[in-house]
Amino acid sequence: MAWSYIFCKSTGRSLNINVPMYLALLIGTIPDFDIYFFFAGSYHGAYTHSILTWSPIFITLLFIFRKIAIPYLIGISVHFLGDFLTNEIPFLLPIIGTDFGLLLGNNAYYAALLEIGALVVATFIAYSNGDLRSSMQVLPKNMLSFIPLIVLVSLTLLFASEFNINLIQHGFQGLSISLISISHIILALFLTLSAFCGLYAMISTKFLIKNRKGLIA
Ligand SMILES: [Zn+2]
Repeated sequence: MAWSYIFCKSTGRSLNINVPMYLALLIGTIPDFDIYFFFAGSYHGAYTHSILTWSPIFITLLFIFRKIAIPYLIGISVHFLGDFLTNEIPFLLPIIGTDFGLLLGNNAYYAALLEIGALVVATFIAYSNGDLRSSMQVLPKNMLSFIPLIVLVSLTLLFASEFNINLIQHGFQGLSISLISISHIILALFLTLSAFCGLYAMISTKFLIKNRKGLIA
């Protein structure tokens, strides 16, 4: 999510396109939505991680939305790059079924460095473009932070339950994995705070409208 935010926002900025924070975070997780289909026998990291599968979608989106689509397509592409660096993905499916990747994720220190590095850079960008401040304000639009939050939590829980991973035991095994888990927790907490700011704004706005109606009646 953090890498997607960095690249989506940076591309958006250079193209003069405002990408909302929740979308910049969310867009990079879309290839992992195959996790939601485990119940239907879907494999994680197969067709949703193939550039060939995505090409017609990318071309259609570029054709319809032109320049506006670019930051979002970059956000999705960054997911492939991240998985290529840390893992292996079959990005030429269905033509070639071979997995390609550098498997840097096998080295917990590289994985932690990539994860923490992304969070630090994303925080810096969010601070400089005002996203950090506005996401902590009592504004109804911050309700949208619930979307990446729900996606982050649900994907983690579904993945863990499919592969029988005990998150508490596995997530804090050694310094590097603990750092990765902590960076996920920080992101989840940040999104929770932002979402509750939005929820509070919505509730107080409705309360104000109700009170005003009461006064008029
Ligand atoms: Zn992936």
